[in-house]
Amino acid sequence: MAELPELRSDRLPERPPESRQLFDRAHTYGVAHDLERMRTGLAPPPRTPRIRTRSRHRRGGPVAAARRWFASGDRRPVDVWHRIRCRTGHHDVRGGQQMQLGSRFVLVERRCVWCDAEAPL
Ligand SMILES: [Zn+2]
Repeated sequence: MAELPELRSDRLPERPPESRQLFDRAHTYGVAHDLERMRTGLAPPPRTPRIRTRSRHRRGGPVAAARRWFASGDRRPVDVWHRIRCRTGHHDVRGGQQMQLGSRFVLVERRCVWCDAEAPL
């Protein structure tokens, strides 16, 4: 009678010991880390102070109001220039060609790009 084969479990090596963490305590982060420190009697480290990225003198004031008024509309010199050009009838007419939008071809209307006036025939 042949011998029974050797059982596989006998040949397996011993289970390695659990990997230990540094200083034999579980690692914690954030608030849990602060709590662990407080349990051991240490105060949590001081937080980084908030850094203000905008100066508090920036908002408010007549200069800021003027800048806001200037920036919130078409009051730049170039806008004045185009307005004068359109008032005198020199429209910047573009369009009239086909354009592909996705799978469709559409016709772009011939209009003034600044005042949206229709092109003269
Ligand atoms: Zn125009």
